[in-house]
Amino acid sequence: MAKTLRLILGDQLNQKHSWFGEVDSDVTYLLMEMKQETGYVRHHIQKVVGFFLAMRHFADWLAAHGHQVVYYRLDDQANKQALTENIKSLIAEQGFGRFEYQLPDEYRLDQQLRDLSEELEVEVQACDSEHFLTDRGFLKDFFKGKKTYLMETFYRAMRKQYNILMDGDEPLTGKWNYDHENRNKFKDPLLLIPPKVHHRDVTDIVALLEKMEVETIGKLDAKQFAWPVTRAESFGLVTYFCEKLLPYFGVYQDAMYTDDAFLFHSRLSFAMNAKILSPLEVVEQVEQYWYSHQDAISIAQVEGFIRQIIGWREYMRGVYWAKMPDYASLNFFDHQRKLPSYFWTGKTKMNCLKHAIGQSLDHAYAHHIQRLMVTGNFALLAGIHPDEVDAWYLGIYIDAIEWVEITNTRGMSQFADGGIVGTKPYVSSANYIDKMSNYCEGCFYKKNLKVGDKACPFNSLYWHFYARNEAQLAKNPRIGMAYRTLAKMKDKEAILKQANYYLGNLEEL
Ligand SMILES: Cc1cc2nc3c(=O)[nH]c(=O)nc-3n(C[C@H](O)[C@H](O)[C@H](O)COP(=O)(O)OP(=O)(O)OC[C@H]3O[C@@H](n4cnc5c(N)ncnc54)[C@H](O)[C@@H]3O)c2cc1C
Ligand code: SF4
Repeated sequence: MAKTLRLILGDQLNQKHSWFGEVDSDVTYLLMEMKQETGYVRHHIQKVVGFFLAMRHFADWLAAHGHQVVYYRLDDQANKQALTENIKSLIAEQGFGRFEYQLPDEYRLDQQLRDLSEELEVEVQACDSEHFLTDRGFLKDFFKGKKTYLMETFYRAMRKQYNILMDGDEPLTGKWNYDHENRNKFKDPLLLIPPKVHHRDVTDIVALLEKMEVETIGKLDAKQFAWPVTRAESFGLVTYFCEKLLPYFGVYQDAMYTDDAFLFHSRLSFAMNAKILSPLEVVEQVEQYWYSHQDAISIAQVEGFIRQIIGWREYMRGVYWAKMPDYASLNFFDHQRKLPSYFWTGKTKMNCLKHAIGQSLDHAYAHHIQRLMVTGNFALLAGIHPDEVDAWYLGIYIDAIEWVEITNTRGMSQFADGGIVGTKPYVSSANYIDKMSNYCEGCFYKKNLKVGDKACPFNSLYWHFYARNEAQLAKNPRIGMAYRTLAKMKDKEAILKQANYYLGNLEEL
């Protein structure tokens, strides 16, 4: 084989990839820390540190297994800080006759590598990243001719195909979905379990980012980087999840609590999105654990967890590849406002937003319902431009990579796709937030008020959202009830006036 350069992107840290099965002296692997990647959006500092650390460990693992590796640190002299330039100059300088890459999961990088492939005068080959359950085009074919892509249909097909929680062709215990049993409010602080965290000293990487003037958001205690970055650490997190958190995962999946940022969530998204662990490895370990602990853990817990991974995660990736690049500019409601500045400080009188944003800045983490029903809900009700919302989500979370961020944000949370991912917008008044959290108890605003100085902004903005979007939404059969209530509302004018005041003064809330 010709002397070959193989590219490994920062989110392609899959030790099980067939590339690494045997050592080939003609092959060199390339990993690069680059300003191109630290700068395409303003990232949380823990996200940049997490990816650099995981990449460095991966390069060490390759070298320890006899592979040849070129690793560019951010401040290396030879590093041109851009993917195309680095690859072109390495090929020219070291005389590679062939270039290979794994298909990226981001459209931006896919396009860049396609363009590069056309420019290069050496042989180029792209291969699968061997991470997901389905290939890029699967979901599009699966839903051929359908306007909406129903996640549940896709999820059931995955359960069958991979024989997960199945009894022959039927779901184990006869039921596919336990979502309705998984909606409890969390009330008992004695149940709280501390997250499994690491305490890695990352002062050198933080100093590197400062030296190279990488602009970041959020906080990091440089002596205590908490996230898993190796395979062993990531498997450790799966084990911890099974033993300590799984028994309550489903029950409190949608709950939010001021004193605990993570509750019973697994914190595995970074390890999976960097491809340190594959979704099947996680799901199979959790399924096996449940089979041998059925007396202590109900099926609702494990089904809820598995659905998130082989259902939602895989489905979002399929939607991304079916709908990009147009998806990135969809704005169904033509929302135009800017995100208020408290999204970068957490300084707001709204207690729910203060907590959801505050913990995102502290930990680069918020769980699904905080992202969907607090920050996302507020952004949608307030009519924020989806580009603004996307950039915030893409930057702030350690697990944020566009294929899964944009489909969740622009699609599920902002309904900017007009109903490809969700059948109706996820919006709520204070009622839902109060039902699922203890946020309202300590809030400046009053959850029951719709008008007045202390009226919870979610209440009037909720009705304003429906009123201003009637033309787009009134025909949606899942929303009829809201419009019937709105039509009968006696204080409708006062509520809409209150909402207009809040919309004109978003910064003050
Ligand atoms: C507005 C918004 C933006 C989001 N952005 C991202 C993102 O950038 N990256 C990301 O990985 N997830 C994103 N999600 C989905 C979800 O919030 C996170 O995957 C989850 O909070 C990660 O925490 P965890 O590992 O503790 O998850 P757990 O609650 O323990 O769930 C287990 C796993 O299921 C998967 N999962 C759960 N829900 C989803 C979902 N809706 N879509 C895809 N996978 C899911 C994740 O891999 C997660 O690790 C977003 C959700 C919303 C509403
Ligand atoms: S009262 Fe309104 S603003 Fe305050 S925490 Fe509850 S939902 Fe949030």
